[in-house]
Amino acid sequence: MLSIGSILRRTQLRASVLQLHSWYSSSSAAATQAERTIKEGPRNDWSRDEIKAVYDSPVLDLLFHGAQVHRHAHNFREVQQCTLLSIKTGGCSEDCSYCPQSSRYDTGVKSQKLMNKDAVLEAAKKAKEAGSTRFCMGAAWRETTGRKTNFNQILEYVTEIRNMGMEVCCTLGMIEKQQAVELKKAGLTAYNHNLDTSREYYPNIITTRNYDDRLQTLQYVRDAGINVCSELCQRKNTLYQHSVLAFLPVEIWEMIRMIATARIIMPKAMVRLSAGRVRFSMPEQALCFLAGANSIFTGEKLLTTPNNDFDADQLMFKVLGLIPKSPSFSDELSTVNELEACQEAVSSSA
Ligand code: SF4
Repeated sequence: MLSIGSILRRTQLRASVLQLHSWYSSSSAAATQAERTIKEGPRNDWSRDEIKAVYDSPVLDLLFHGAQVHRHAHNFREVQQCTLLSIKTGGCSEDCSYCPQSSRYDTGVKSQKLMNKDAVLEAAKKAKEAGSTRFCMGAAWRETTGRKTNFNQILEYVTEIRNMGMEVCCTLGMIEKQQAVELKKAGLTAYNHNLDTSREYYPNIITTRNYDDRLQTLQYVRDAGINVCSELCQRKNTLYQHSVLAFLPVEIWEMIRMIATARIIMPKAMVRLSAGRVRFSMPEQALCFLAGANSIFTGEKLLTTPNNDFDADQLMFKVLGLIPKSPSFSDELSTVNELEACQEAVSSSA
């Protein structure tokens, strides 16, 4: 016969086992969605609520599952090095409130005309020698309409740099349909065009263009068969988008959340760490790579912002066992559907 004491002990033991079981079987949105991504591959029907639930998962769980998806979709040791050159600096007529290149603000940035061919190609050559496999050129313009001479010069730069064996990316403001086609023909790999924020928040950041102007350029870029490189940050609502994560001043855990969420919802996308990486220590950057980041900008400056020291980056690669990623010219459109999915999620929040 069992004593009352032993019945109580058995009951307590059973309750503890049930509690443990419920802990282990409780599944975060990050776990559920990561499992689905691994099984089904990229999706293009993400809702805003689904993305938010992934982002709000317990951070270590999110980090773990971001890493799982990352290892499933990529060689986790490979990190692409990209170099960004400002080929035309400052004096922009737009009023983007975060940008030191707008002519509307007194930021101390000195305006410079479009750089000549020799200077641009020399910079690209140096970047390649330093290990970069993507060269990005940024021009502080509202749009390229009416800049035929400059635009033709840039087409030439694109072709020459592509012929060096590098991926080439441009950010030139809003472009027309025909210009997107010409850039593709010249050999452009990607066009960077940031959505900046959500549709509803857009007028608080920029008043000189609207959200649809931006989407129009992205559509022309996609239609021309050019990969889209875009950053979208709606920090309050924590939605963002593919390929470049601009480092607005965020804390490391917020950054980890953004990267791991990006990796889970866009498994094949390049998740690139850009301006502001300089504020993060090597261990913090290691967490970013673990969560799913697989590309960095190298070089002294990112447009007008200081960047990490070249030697420090080389040391980081060595310490973390990272290897430089080769350029990719074959599946340039692989991330486009993922990008569209996220844009739709953001647009639907408006
Ligand atoms: S369009 Fe580009 S360069 Fe011009 S103000 Fe906005 S972010 Fe700066």
